[in-house]
Amino acid sequence: MKIDRVEAIHLRHEYPNQHGFESSGGITSARLTSLVLVHTDRGQIGVGSVYSHPALVDVVIRQLDPLLRGRDPREVEELWELMYGWTRWYGRKGAAMSALGGIDVALWDLRGQAADKPVWRLLGGTTPACPAYASALLWNSIEGLKSEAQRHLARGFRRMKMRLGRNLDYDVNAPRAVKREIGPRCDLMCDASMRYTVDIARRVGRELAQIGVFWFEEPFAPEDLDSFAALRGTVGLPLAAGENEFGLQGFTEVVHRQAVDIVQADASRCGGITEVLRVARLADQAALKLAPHSWSDAVAVLANAQVVAATPHALTVEVDQTGNPFIEELLVEPLRIVDGRLQLSERPGLGLELNRAVVDRLLLENPYQIPNGWYSDMLFGADWNKPAPPYEG
Ligand SMILES: [Mg+2]
Repeated sequence: MKIDRVEAIHLRHEYPNQHGFESSGGITSARLTSLVLVHTDRGQIGVGSVYSHPALVDVVIRQLDPLLRGRDPREVEELWELMYGWTRWYGRKGAAMSALGGIDVALWDLRGQAADKPVWRLLGGTTPACPAYASALLWNSIEGLKSEAQRHLARGFRRMKMRLGRNLDYDVNAPRAVKREIGPRCDLMCDASMRYTVDIARRVGRELAQIGVFWFEEPFAPEDLDSFAALRGTVGLPLAAGENEFGLQGFTEVVHRQAVDIVQADASRCGGITEVLRVARLADQAALKLAPHSWSDAVAVLANAQVVAATPHALTVEVDQTGNPFIEELLVEPLRIVDGRLQLSERPGLGLELNRAVVDRLLLENPYQIPNGWYSDMLFGADWNKPAPPYEG
């Protein structure tokens, strides 16, 4: 089995009236994600995904494609090291690491197909399921949040995450209302979207601890490890971060600085399944938990879920529930949640099949010409630069 070619496919979804949901970054108008397909000389296709700037992903894939042709896709770790070396000069963190991680996920898919085993089983898992949580509950009225929480419960979720960072009154009262709505048997996580100072994080964190919140995510920017370390252990609530970190080296700094209790390495961001496994081992050695971030598409969710299903100290995987077609429509068999657990396939590899009609419908023809908008994490066009005003505590 040899690699024939590597292909990037970029997807774009625009919300009706360019109005998806509201958070600290403004009104999300549209979404982006990139898929990576590794084709073999025997006709197999491995699928991965990357969540980064599509044009940057495209140039990295274009560089790596000819270098990977003719190689055995089952030699995943060896190819990871080669790709890391080929991109090191401009890479190591950010888009290059995310792009090589997308290829890595596709290679794991092929390794599983070649072994006729699902990836979660190759990794030592024994059960085709893992805990999952609904990631949604963006800025809304209390009544709107409560009815949305009921929808997540009805869909099978027993954990969900909401966005804070709006104002002090909302950040304390909205979680209290949602937690009361879902009850003591269901978990609520809170994401502060990097909007706090240490003082505000302490005030909000103590309230959240009293409510019984499950974790407190990204109160500070990812570079501000001093603030994480200052807050950690002072509010009675586990701290989580990692969606903005890349590679084992990046996570090593986070762990050594004692910044968090839960690391949120994401296969579609931080360097693929291979790197999430390394971060998982690092976390285990430091007695920390793993809870992969995921905010792009169903392929990324399934890639992260393979690791969670096979890792005893992994808590749960994130599933975007904002009405994202990359989650809801991309796969022939959509993601299925039963009693709080994402169901995984017994089929080999990642066990997924892309819905080609949906891929065609959502195709972004030219990743170098992205229509202006706020894409939830990426900004294109000055007209869309409308973040919420600075946080007032
Ligand atoms: Mg987050």
